[in-house]
Amino acid sequence: MAKLSPSTLRIGYRYRPSRLAEHYDAVVIGSGMGGLTTAAMLSDLGWKVCVLEQHYTAGGYTHSYERNGYEWDVGVHYIGDVGAKTRTRQMFDYLSDGNLKWAPMDEEYDRFYIGDKIFCAKAGRQQFRDNLVTQFPDEQQAIEAYIALLNDAGNAMTSIGMTRVLEPWQQTLMTPYLKWKTPDFLYRNTYDVLAELTDDDDLIAVICGQWGDMGLPPRQSTFMVHAMIARHYLYGGFYPVGGSWRIADSIIPKIQASGGEVFTYASVERINVEDGAVTGVTMKDGHRINCKQVISTAGVINTFDHLLPADVAESFGYSSALKSVEPSFGHLGVYIGLKGRAEELGLPKTNFWIYPENNYDAAVERFLENKDAPFPVVYISFPSAKDPDYENRHPGTSTIEIVAPAPYEWFKEWQDETWGKRGDDYETFKSNLGDRLMEEMYKKLPQLRGKVDYYEVSTPLSTNWFAGYTQGELYGLAHTPSRMQQKWLRPKTKISGLWLSGQDILTCGVTGAMMAGVLTTTAMVGMRKIGPLMKRVYS
Ligand SMILES: Cc1cc2nc3c(=O)[nH]c(=O)nc-3n(C[C@H](O)[C@H](O)[C@H](O)COP(=O)(O)OP(=O)(O)OC[C@H]3O[C@@H](n4cnc5c(N)ncnc54)[C@H](O)[C@@H]3O)c2cc1C
Repeated sequence: MAKLSPSTLRIGYRYRPSRLAEHYDAVVIGSGMGGLTTAAMLSDLGWKVCVLEQHYTAGGYTHSYERNGYEWDVGVHYIGDVGAKTRTRQMFDYLSDGNLKWAPMDEEYDRFYIGDKIFCAKAGRQQFRDNLVTQFPDEQQAIEAYIALLNDAGNAMTSIGMTRVLEPWQQTLMTPYLKWKTPDFLYRNTYDVLAELTDDDDLIAVICGQWGDMGLPPRQSTFMVHAMIARHYLYGGFYPVGGSWRIADSIIPKIQASGGEVFTYASVERINVEDGAVTGVTMKDGHRINCKQVISTAGVINTFDHLLPADVAESFGYSSALKSVEPSFGHLGVYIGLKGRAEELGLPKTNFWIYPENNYDAAVERFLENKDAPFPVVYISFPSAKDPDYENRHPGTSTIEIVAPAPYEWFKEWQDETWGKRGDDYETFKSNLGDRLMEEMYKKLPQLRGKVDYYEVSTPLSTNWFAGYTQGELYGLAHTPSRMQQKWLRPKTKISGLWLSGQDILTCGVTGAMMAGVLTTTAMVGMRKIGPLMKRVYS
């Protein structure tokens, strides 16, 4: 295998103990959307914040990388709700000082290949409804009922978010109100809720056609998270102009403006705790950074199983709490470079979701039992087609990304090897999987045969290596009904000065992690201080 050259696309400031300030008001572990949002908001309130990122570039799953003249994103393909002055858009505008721009995808932003049938999702509330009715004319009543459920779910979302910042006694006081606001169907599994509306399994499959966006098929996922994602993309998909790395790049100045910094190559080894209170962190190089406020966005499994001393995690009940949650799936990524512009090659601004059949759960089960079974979902995204600036950075070329699930266990025997040096067996195994995914792409886009200049395959071990998720998990914790009801998944921990943020305390997705950052900041500074800031954001 040819030696891989590391990416030159890097943002953030390389960590050295000598580059640290004498004092920080807060230390944030992880520079993903959850960490950067918390850091930026605290900075805006006058805190001096040190963000520590173990990777060589900042951004977590929003980072991009470059190789052989191509550039790919690792964890952002489309973001919803940013085409108008929505709360999501206003928050991105605030964090980036208006420097992050968005390009709309095609009106048909998602296309679903289900067995030999083709369906799609269209942008716009009315278009979404009409398009479903056109595809399923006999199911109009079920479609209207489904849209009504999405509306009910939307009304509940704010309350669900706010419960995360309430103290336990406040939650108890508010139980009747919260129960009224969050009807039980939100916590049921997605398939059961939909099966009460219709017995058309193709319609259910189309409605759940974005299940990959949260990592669990409909019989395992929570309707609440399904509804959040469906609502998120109701007005279509958008892509960050300039590539997903622009997200972190445009937020970092806000952190620096208050004297803070985002350090890369800055791996935290341990969160230090004395007498039940945080005292700072110890870095992998042994250097200690003392600070009374530490926010971990490295995921709760990392935080409580690896970063906190075991006796502390045990004594505060977090070791047993971890048993109530599980990691999400691992995934394979194929990163493809082609000579020729997107228009020349016929690449759309539409994501492809390719399913072998309409029973997604059965397809997943079969694949987990047998590696040679068809992939239960193959997702294909065309970043250079979505990005109006790509041609300026990489003229005359295009990129494609493919994502498909793959369990971590399949790769475990190589987990202790170094990236790029895992040996021939590993390379052969992953390249066979990669070739199968390439074939799926050629079946839908035969004109690309002979046009691919370069491609490489990532596995859950790559996710572990670059993003620090121990099981290579795609979305942090799995979004099961049980996970969504865990009260300990909230910003404030039982350890004084230790806070959580990022996808594990709310939901996955760049917006989910961003909103988690808002909740963490709110929990840390209190309503009196966050109020005026939110007024500015949403003015
Ligand atoms: C393949 C894929 C596709 C996706 N597509 C989309 C999409 O199209 N749209 C969308 O909205 N969302 C998408 N997502 C999900 C989205 O990217 C994530 O949910 C979100 O970015 C998570 O943000 P976060 O801050 O919680 O975590 P992360 O971005 O994972 O950040 C956590 C950071 O902590 C760092 N870290 C871990 N341990 C340590 C340590 N010990 N010391 C220092 N740093 C540490 C990690 O390196 C990482 O940078 C996708 C994700 C994947 C993997």
